[in-house]
Amino acid sequence: MEYRRLGRTGIKVSALSFGSWVTFNNQLDSNQCDRMLALAYEAGINFFDNAEVYAKGESERLMGESLKRLGWRRSSYLIATKLFWGLHDGPNEKNTLNRKYLLEGINGCLQRLQLDHVDLLLCHRPDPETPIEETVWAMHDIVTQGKAVYWGTSEWSAEEIARAHEIAERHHLHKPVAEQPQYNLFARARVEGEYRRIINELGIGLTTWSPLASGLLSGKYQGGIPADSRAALPGFEWIRDRITPDKLAVVDALLPIARDLSCSVSQLAIAWCLRNRAVSTVLLGATREEQLQENLGALVVLPKLTDEVMAAIADVVGDGK
Ligand code: NDP
Repeated sequence: MEYRRLGRTGIKVSALSFGSWVTFNNQLDSNQCDRMLALAYEAGINFFDNAEVYAKGESERLMGESLKRLGWRRSSYLIATKLFWGLHDGPNEKNTLNRKYLLEGINGCLQRLQLDHVDLLLCHRPDPETPIEETVWAMHDIVTQGKAVYWGTSEWSAEEIARAHEIAERHHLHKPVAEQPQYNLFARARVEGEYRRIINELGIGLTTWSPLASGLLSGKYQGGIPADSRAALPGFEWIRDRITPDKLAVVDALLPIARDLSCSVSQLAIAWCLRNRAVSTVLLGATREEQLQENLGALVVLPKLTDEVMAAIADVVGDGK
């Protein structure tokens, strides 16, 4: 495993990490969660991602139970979770980053995870209604209370992140250290364009999500939608709708590049994310141990991504704008 600094913090995260969105509770039971987490940890993964909203809290509960059974040393791994969408419908409990929701929400996360702190707490989306200043103070207080070691954002604009950073700096508060954006061969513009300044000047680390665009970049959808795949899950029809002929054609064109490197398209797509040094960690998702094993193989493919190979990939996917 390779370890990279989380932005400019002193903490090192495994270049590949493991997340629980869609899979925990919907596709994996507690026994399977144990096995996937154990496989990831044994491969050197030290960063595990979750969110309050995943499976309506059940994903955190399952991860907490697994962590308890697995009994790893607490200092040997990092847990990230996120707040924003909420678990209840009250006006102050959903789609919000207000102070009350955040200060109370973290307690629920810790209870479900059976932990006394998480390592990274992220604001899952920006909240246009709560002043950023209120959110920054609340996140600072959560860090000061010892309930999170670091805090950051997910899918905030560069401008919002810079604003949060500036407020924290002005008041000597804990600053956001990481952003969690989507980043894959179909979604590049924000990471490679808009975020340049917050990465280079503010030192924000990236923990990137959906390296396979929900599995599309594995090539599994080339012949239709397998019944046991994410795109066939009830409630995830929007993923099926994103499987368009032009995207399938891109995956087709990536196949020979992967073949030349003796790797799978999944490994190629994940290694491509790792090639960007602004990425602290690439979050993997998997429903089977074989998928996770295969995806971990991206580390071996990374050194094979020469400038020529990168140019061949760019020819296929375009400039991402
Ligand atoms: P991917 O894009 O890699 O999709 C993972 C899914 O693709 C798997 O669950 C599996 O689904 C399929 N798959 C994975 N590997 C293979 C393979 N080798 N061959 C065939 N199929 C494969 O990542 P995710 O979308 O799951 O995102 C990863 C993590 O990022 C999440 O768990 C979460 O922690 C985080 N995330 C954060 C978000 C945010 O807003 N901050 C948003 C989304 C994710 P199946 O077998 O069911 O087809």
